[in-house]
Amino acid sequence: MKNLGSEIVVATRNAGKVKELEPLFRQKGIEVKSLLDYPDMPDIIEDGDTFAANALIKARAIALHLGIPALADDSGLCVDRLNGEPGVYSARYAGEPSNDEANNRKLLEELSKLPRFDGEQTRSLSPARFVSAICLVDAGGQVVSAVEGSCEGEILSSPRGDKGFGYDPLFYIPAMDKTMAELSIDQKNAISHRGRAIQALWDDLENK
Ligand code: IMP
Repeated sequence: MKNLGSEIVVATRNAGKVKELEPLFRQKGIEVKSLLDYPDMPDIIEDGDTFAANALIKARAIALHLGIPALADDSGLCVDRLNGEPGVYSARYAGEPSNDEANNRKLLEELSKLPRFDGEQTRSLSPARFVSAICLVDAGGQVVSAVEGSCEGEILSSPRGDKGFGYDPLFYIPAMDKTMAELSIDQKNAISHRGRAIQALWDDLENK
């Protein structure tokens, strides 16, 4: 397996993502640093059309700025009845600055404009998936590994649970009868888009 060293910098200021990534990397003996540890790092313009393109932009920007290997997760929610929105615009769906509550409100508003969005029925009417693209680059910005993971669910008509971040309280997983915001970090990592992408990363690195 490719040796990642004892520390990895993740291109995010999202404390929720960092909390989820920490135990996954700890299992491999790797400490996660994030941009919360590098407050002076300039903002990165994420202007890619896909999660994968944005993950590469972020990982490369950090690696080249700091001169060390970097990893980025670009992720978001894709709702079928909204033609895949909010997609790559998930973080700023309701505008700048990024605000989870406002984003969730907007999501429910947009769904309420569609026909037959009425309470319980909505569960089966609003299939959605979380997607995570993860890119690992070396200190020179060259791609070491690029992987993706996804998690299927349905959008509820009102939030449930107070864990997690982002759209978690509206994202219902029928097989668990829980929203993402009702899961512990370990439970979420076991089934989430990000947990699956990291598993794909380990599998890919195994052969490198
Ligand atoms: P990014 O930081 O540009 O990748 O944007 C990620 C955005 O997608 C977050 O701000 C959330 O709105 C949403 N998102 C991604 N992953 C999750 C998750 O695991 N739970 C809830 N929302 C998520």
